Amino acid sequence: MSNPYIEEAEEAILHTYNRYQIVLDRGEGVRLYDVNGKEYLDFAAGIAVQSLGYGHPEYTRALKEQIDRLTHISNLYYSVPMTEAAGKVKKASGMEKVFFTNSGTEAIEGALKAARKYSYGKYGEGRYEIIAMNHSFHGRSMGALSVTGNEKYRKPFEPLVGGVRFAEFNDLESVKAQVTDRTCGIIVETVQGEGGIYPATKEFLEGLRTLCDERDLILIFDEIQCGMGRTGHMFAWQEYGVMPDVMTCAKALGCGVPVGAFVLGGRAAESSLAPGDHGTTYGGNPFVCAAVSKVFDLYEKEGIVEHVRKVGAYLTEKLDGLVEKYDFFAERRGKGLIQGLEVQGRPVGEIVNRALENGLIVITAGSNVLRLVPPLVITEADVDEMIDKLERSL
Ligand SMILES: *Cc1c(COP(=O)(O)O)cnc(C)c1O
Repeated sequence: MSNPYIEEAEEAILHTYNRYQIVLDRGEGVRLYDVNGKEYLDFAAGIAVQSLGYGHPEYTRALKEQIDRLTHISNLYYSVPMTEAAGKVKKASGMEKVFFTNSGTEAIEGALKAARKYSYGKYGEGRYEIIAMNHSFHGRSMGALSVTGNEKYRKPFEPLVGGVRFAEFNDLESVKAQVTDRTCGIIVETVQGEGGIYPATKEFLEGLRTLCDERDLILIFDEIQCGMGRTGHMFAWQEYGVMPDVMTCAKALGCGVPVGAFVLGGRAAESSLAPGDHGTTYGGNPFVCAAVSKVFDLYEKEGIVEHVRKVGAYLTEKLDGLVEKYDFFAERRGKGLIQGLEVQGRPVGEIVNRALENGLIVITAGSNVLRLVPPLVITEADVDEMIDKLERSL
């Protein structure tokens, strides 16, 4: 099944992804259409990005209006969209200071710098170590890769940024064992995404919070994938009642425009990054911030978070049904609309490819997990259709 677009793409685009063999052309609601007009029900949302689905009229209108008004000015000046967007992030998180970035990876870089700078400002040199988790994913730049607990991604690029120690996710003792006089921060995904959809336990996050308070460490929660309503809470940590010192956001923050943020609270907001310490040319320009601002408005207006709780419970029930019915589904993990089915004894990639043939887009996580991160606006009928298409692909 050769496709001229795919052949041409492979001629020109650096082959760093083994792409699925479809060429997508347009989207509407929770559906995507390829260049041949074939329809797909989308349970991937561009990797947890398109929370509002495709072509949301009010969102689209806001972006078009902003393009006509002003797209970019640099961070040397103020803009109304940036002011508004930052205020909405603050309000939703209860945290204090926002720095907008162009991606999740860059938000991680900023968070790591904030942790080191906080420590440097208070204790001087030498207190620079970061504790990260095995099976974590934080991005592909040298800094973000340094805290990513996946040997395969890291090895060819070593030596990476130094001073990183790894511990076991959800194992507080293993984290404590890595704390030294040089530790300045701990970074953890509230729900591990790429690693295979593993939610943190409450005891773990509470334990990390206490540890960080006792040792004056900066606690960083990576909410890039699990944040923005996906777990049924605006930010996943809010369910646990454990606030980080620094939170990273991206993916659904702009629902399709490239924007991320790192958000500081408490002592990290009071004393870490200062003028001259950090910057970005594009970050938080009026165009992306108009999107962020509209995303928060629409979440509120459409009750997205409450909706996720309801439809997430329905999805959970249906997925648990599949685990009961099929031996090769070992386990379901996740919360709300970030869910994973662990597949045993057959390649998960085969299921994904067959699902595509049946008009369903799903993705993988880790080496053997079927990942479901749909637009947050899916309905119970969409869940039923997904289950039907998935079962036909098994
Ligand atoms: C996707 C992701 C990142 C990296 O974000 P990019 O926008 O791809 O740079 C970092 N952390 C987590 C948890 C992610 O899911």
